[in-house]
Amino acid sequence: MHEHHVLNPATGERIATVAGTEPHEVDAAVRRAACAQARWAALAPGDRARLLRRFAGAVDAHLEELAQIEVREAGHPVGNARWEAGNVRDLLEYAAGGVERLCGRQIPVPGGVNLTFAEPLGVVAVIVPWNFPLPIAAWGAAPALAAGNAVLLKPAETTPLGALRLAELALESGLPDGLLQVLPGAGPVTGAALVEHPGVAKVVFTGSTAVGREVMATCAAGLKRVTLELGGKSPNLVFADADVERAAAAAPASFLDNTGQDCCARTRILVQRGVYERFLELLEPAVHAFTVGDPADEATLMGPLISARQRERVRSYVPEDAPAAIRGRAPGGDGFWYPATVLTGVPADDPRAMEEIFGPVAVVLPFTDEEEAVRLANATPYGLAGSIWTRDGARALRVSRAVAAGNLSVNSHSSVRYWTPFGGFKHSGLGRELGPDALAAFTETKNVFLSTE
Ligand code: NAD
Repeated sequence: MHEHHVLNPATGERIATVAGTEPHEVDAAVRRAACAQARWAALAPGDRARLLRRFAGAVDAHLEELAQIEVREAGHPVGNARWEAGNVRDLLEYAAGGVERLCGRQIPVPGGVNLTFAEPLGVVAVIVPWNFPLPIAAWGAAPALAAGNAVLLKPAETTPLGALRLAELALESGLPDGLLQVLPGAGPVTGAALVEHPGVAKVVFTGSTAVGREVMATCAAGLKRVTLELGGKSPNLVFADADVERAAAAAPASFLDNTGQDCCARTRILVQRGVYERFLELLEPAVHAFTVGDPADEATLMGPLISARQRERVRSYVPEDAPAAIRGRAPGGDGFWYPATVLTGVPADDPRAMEEIFGPVAVVLPFTDEEEAVRLANATPYGLAGSIWTRDGARALRVSRAVAAGNLSVNSHSSVRYWTPFGGFKHSGLGRELGPDALAAFTETKNVFLSTE
C-alpha cells in the first residue's frame, strides 16, 4: 500500500493524507468505468448534455470551495485559483454544447448509402500534473465525457484534493457511478498501471517531456491513442518597434504567474538591441511590483513553489545567492518560497536559457534582427508557446508563422482560451486540447456502407 501526504506549499503543513491506488484497484476501476461508459453512451445526446450542464452548475455553486482547495494544496493565489475553478465550469459547459453537435456524415458513393459515426473510444485515462490541477483535469475530462467516454483521472501526488472533490460533484450531479473516477497515486505505480491497462483506449498525459516519452512508448506497445501536453521554454520576442513600456509591464506575469510553474511561461526573453537597456530598466520595477506572499491574500500575485523537491530543482539551476540582474524577494518561513529572478549575460545555449526550470526564473537575451530573433526562438527542443511584441502587423504575422510553436500571441501573453486549440510542436507535445475540435479527439470514426443493390 502507498500513500501521499498533501502539504500546503505556503507553510509546509500537512493538510491531508491520501491513499494511493494499487494496480489491482486500477484494474477494478477500469472494469467499473467500462460498465458506466456503456450506460452513458446509450443515453440520448440531449440527456448527456443536460447532465454535463448540471455538473457545470455544481462546479459553479462550489466555485469558492474548489478555489480554496487550489489555494491550499497548490499554493495558487486566490484570484488565480478562482479563474481556474471557473475554467472547469466553462469547459464543462462548452463541452456540453458539443454533445448534440457531434455528428457523422453521409458521403455520396455509388451502389449504396455511406454513413460515418463518431463513436466514443471507451475508457480514457487523464494523467494530470500538479501545476494546474483543476483546469488540466477538465481539459481532458470534459470533452472525453461529452464524446461519450468514461474517464479515469490520475491527479499528481502533491495535488489530489481538487480532483477528488470534482468527482464527488459529478456523482451528485447525476453522472453514472463509475463514469468519472479519480485514482490518486504514484506516477510509476498508478499512472503506469493505467497506461499499460488493455481496457484503457486512450491516454491524455500532461507533464514532463521525460515521462511523456515513456507514456508514449507504452501506448505504442498497446497501440493506444495518446495526447501529450509536455514542457516548454517559450520565447518572448520584443522588437524595437514595439510599445516597449507595455511589453515590459506585461513581462513579469508571463514568467511569474503560478511561480513560473507554467508550461507556457515566457522564460526566454529576446529583446532587440536598440531597446535592450530600456527594456531591462522598465522590467526591474515591474518585477518588484509583482506582489509575493500568502496565496490566501487577495492582493497576492505570486505564491510559493509546489514542493521542497521543486525548489531544489530550481536551485540546481540558479541558487538564491547566484548573481542576477533582477531579484525579487521571497518570504521566509517553512513554505517553499523562491524569489523572482532575471538573468542577463547568459549564453543563448546555456542550460538556464534552453531548459525548462519550472520556477520564477527568466533569461533576457539580446538579438540584432528578425532573422536572429526567429533563430533564437526556435533553438530549443520545445515549441509550446511564444509572444511577439511589435507595432508592425506584417512582422507580427511573419514571425508568428516562423516560430515553431503551437500557441503564439501578439502584443499579449495569453495562451489558454477554452474556445481555441492548445498544444505543442516538437518536444512540447502531440495533439491538441480545447477548442472546437476537442471532442473529435475522443472519438473513433466508423464508416458504414449499406448496399442498395
Ligand atoms: P511529471 O511528468 O512528473 O508528472 C505528471 C503526471 O504524470 C503526474 O500525475 C505523475 O504522477 C504522473 N506520472 C509520473 N510518472 C509516470 C509514469 N511512469 N507513468 C504514468 N504516469 C506517470 O510532471 P510534473 O512534475 O507533475 O509536472 C510538471 C511538468 O508538466 C512540467 O515539465 C510542465 O511543463 C509540464 N506541463 C505541461 C503542460 C502542457 O500543457 N504542455 C501543462 C502543465 C504541465
